[in-house]
Amino acid sequence: MMHNGTVSGVSASAGPEPATPQRAAQPSLHPAGALSVDVEDYFHVEAFADRIRYEDWPCFPSRVVRNTQRLLELFARHGARGTFFILGWVAEREPALVRQIAAAGHEIACHSYRHAALWRLTPEEFRADTRRAVQSLEEAAGVRVVGYRAPTFSIVPRTLWALEILAEEGFLYDSSVFPVVHDLYGIPQAPRFPFRWELGAGRSLYEIPPMTVRLAGRNLAIAGGGYLRLYPMWLTRWAVRRVQHREGRPVLIYLHPWEIDPTQPRLSGRWKSRFRHYRNLEQMEARLDELLRTGPFVPFRELLEWERQYGQLASVSPLRFGRFPPEN
Ligand SMILES: [Zn+2]
Repeated sequence: MMHNGTVSGVSASAGPEPATPQRAAQPSLHPAGALSVDVEDYFHVEAFADRIRYEDWPCFPSRVVRNTQRLLELFARHGARGTFFILGWVAEREPALVRQIAAAGHEIACHSYRHAALWRLTPEEFRADTRRAVQSLEEAAGVRVVGYRAPTFSIVPRTLWALEILAEEGFLYDSSVFPVVHDLYGIPQAPRFPFRWELGAGRSLYEIPPMTVRLAGRNLAIAGGGYLRLYPMWLTRWAVRRVQHREGRPVLIYLHPWEIDPTQPRLSGRWKSRFRHYRNLEQMEARLDELLRTGPFVPFRELLEWERQYGQLASVSPLRFGRFPPEN
């Protein structure tokens, strides 16, 4: 679906500069981009989850506050606002950081409490983890949390039961379903653009999939996290132009605060994990800076509001992709 008008980022009447956080609404033009940060520390990641126990997290020197503040400074320079999916464990320890993020005009959203991939949890454990995370976020920031992103994009065919729980817990949208083939995550057949899950009892939940581009008949993840660091920048530039101009869709970015921290302590782990985690950290900030120029960028919730009002959100049943509800 193409939207009318759009899409190089700046609408005809908005002037050449990226908009300020208080920019006037341009209701008929979709946002050029939506930005998201998964706020966690370098020792929380799935890549090292087989080496680092949850119980040992307090032993690691934390760098998440300073790295997140550097991102806030970078976003402010671009007038970019985004959604910060924050780990409950971090929010409990650093409530002032959560307040600082909210005060800068960004959306506060949930990235679980203890960063356990959903395939390691029972539905009951998932619900408890989510409640604890939401409570720490809402207590820290005094705002209601309506967006969720699973650790490691771990809503996959065998964990689709989580959608029902998210809807029951009052979430408006999820951003955990990556429509790609990957060794850990992904539902390759899921829609590439925002859609609505049709759930039980008339409930629904919106989905905002991370960005992909079609290449050689497959979906290629682009402009986020390791993909932004690992792929050559010419490929990212090509993909961003293609999504913005050819498909007429917003650019979605995701990243982690540790990805702009080349001097973080090095952890031991498998070769592939170390490659994915440490590769091109020193280039990330410049790459991000370049991408942010394609803005303005808004939080996911604002993108979703636009899509609900002006887009044509497809309705999708989870039954299309796997067992649902779970056979426990
Ligand atoms: Zn994460």
